[in-house]
Amino acid sequence: MVLGFIEHVGGAPTSLSLELLTMARRLAQRMGVPLEALVIGGSGASASGILASYGVSVVHVADDERLSAYAPAAWAHTMVQLVEAAHPAVVIGTGSDRGAEVMAHVAARLRLPLAANCTEVIPGNPFLVTRQRWGGSLLEEARLKGAVKLLTVAPHAVTVEADATATDIEVETKRPSLEDKDFRVTVVPQVEADTGKVSLAQARVVVGGGRGVGSAEGFQALEELASLLGGAVGCSRAVTSLGWRPHADQVGQTGMRIAPDLYIACGISGAIQHMVGCRAAKHILAINTDKEAPIVAQADYAVIGDVKAVVTAVTSEIRRLKPS
Ligand SMILES: Cc1cc2nc3c(=O)[nH]c(=O)nc-3n(C[C@H](O)[C@H](O)[C@H](O)COP(=O)(O)OP(=O)(O)OC[C@H]3O[C@@H](n4cnc5c(N)ncnc54)[C@H](O)[C@@H]3O)c2cc1C
Repeated sequence: MVLGFIEHVGGAPTSLSLELLTMARRLAQRMGVPLEALVIGGSGASASGILASYGVSVVHVADDERLSAYAPAAWAHTMVQLVEAAHPAVVIGTGSDRGAEVMAHVAARLRLPLAANCTEVIPGNPFLVTRQRWGGSLLEEARLKGAVKLLTVAPHAVTVEADATATDIEVETKRPSLEDKDFRVTVVPQVEADTGKVSLAQARVVVGGGRGVGSAEGFQALEELASLLGGAVGCSRAVTSLGWRPHADQVGQTGMRIAPDLYIACGISGAIQHMVGCRAAKHILAINTDKEAPIVAQADYAVIGDVKAVVTAVTSEIRRLKPS
């Protein structure tokens, strides 16, 4: 059996979990084994309808009120108990921060190797995996051994596809046996930024600003453009280091990884650590005074010019064309 570790918000699987399910189902079909899933928290049972449509035949729900808050060691201990009871051949997590952390705990507890950020998995003895290294700037081909193959899926490397042949799903709810020490690290409050705007993670259009924007006030023009396009504003690390924007807005290796339809990079040089966070965008438009800036070579479109002049001109043209 292939076992997917599903992250969900109130029973709705995250988009990275759907990517995981797509890869896991293809792997299970190739191996001729069923695909099953683990969801943590009682509310996870309501994910079963969606999981069925992605080819999951059994969903294991770990129900313990203490598990509803994120507790990496407790979540991993829960997974390990399921692995020991159900003997999956493969366990796959997402490449999110939480997926990676829980799977690392699982690997340590089981004393097994973990192949992180995989883009392709070929079953066999050993498994052959292709995985992203160095923030996605390098693809590594590796052999994965171990009694249970442990993997995470690189974010945005798989196009989500439901299973047209999906049938019924069985829901098995169990209370794992957990100790107090499993809860030494637990997320207590989780405060959502209440901006009333579309979030950076979900936005179909992201307007990103870099040092070339010039100041915190310079972001007002980017806010205006993003709002006209129904999008969100992101930024580079140079900007967060300067204190112009909060870290939550940072795109990149040490920030958020985004996959919008359009990323408008304004006054951003295109350092590798930034591109890691936006390379999954379907299209990139760069606005930069320097035609030799690395971002220009990596973008689908580029406008060479001053960010304020270009953004202001684009905004007023959209206003002119947009029916009020
Ligand atoms: C371990 C590590 C992790 C990192 N993680 C991240 C990360 O998560 N995200 C991230 O972004 N960076 C990250 N960095 C930093 C990264 O290496 C770069 O330093 C950073 O991305 C540069 O930001 P920038 O492009 O805004 O600034 P710069 O590199 O200074 O580029 C500014 C750009 O603006 C252009 N420009 C200047 N004036 C104008 C104007 N008036 N109009 C138009 N264009 C103009 C310039 O031509 C230039 O291309 C990390 C670095 C390390 C070492």
